[in-house]
Amino acid sequence: MSKLSRKFKVPDPLANLYDFANSLDVRRFTHHGVPHQQDDELTEPAELAGWLAGRGLLAQGAGKITPAMFDTALRLRAELRDYLGCDPIERRKNGRVAGRLNDALKSFPLVADARGGEALTLRASREDALAGLSVVVAELYNGSINGTLDRLKMCAAEECRRVFFDRSKPSTRRWCMSTLCGNRIKTRAYRARHRDVG
Ligand SMILES: [Zn+2]
Repeated sequence: MSKLSRKFKVPDPLANLYDFANSLDVRRFTHHGVPHQQDDELTEPAELAGWLAGRGLLAQGAGKITPAMFDTALRLRAELRDYLGCDPIERRKNGRVAGRLNDALKSFPLVADARGGEALTLRASREDALAGLSVVVAELYNGSINGTLDRLKMCAAEECRRVFFDRSKPSTRRWCMSTLCGNRIKTRAYRARHRDVG
């Protein structure tokens, strides 16, 4: 759970997935005349270790994150973003995106754990420094079972592409903030229409 996941009321069981997908910020719009700075929270293995540790996902003595492990993590993030970038119906249909996500998920096997209390939980089969990232995969799985994953979407604005949680009742939101991203697109469409006419 992070400040942002709390601010945007992302359910705790999806918060690590939400944060991980948004650790890459590709927004490139200008707001009130100020260009937004793009950012990547994970530019090297040490940053990933810090990201995991900050969420209690880095076990003591788990060892170092090697460059190869770091690449594995970034690949998971890229495929998760592609998958979340599809609307929920397309996710079920787009075999290419699902197949690439599957390949990335292979590096994060999960095992059922009966020691979790009332219900069994999924935990990492890995035991190295990347094991904590399996929590993100377990959240993806659990969300797909209870239906909340369909509400985790990527903003439709090309210059935003931020992952957001759609709390609207019909679950039809397309923009992370309709007052910003939605309006920008509508204004552009309006201008384009009027260009065509005029
Ligand atoms: Zn947006």
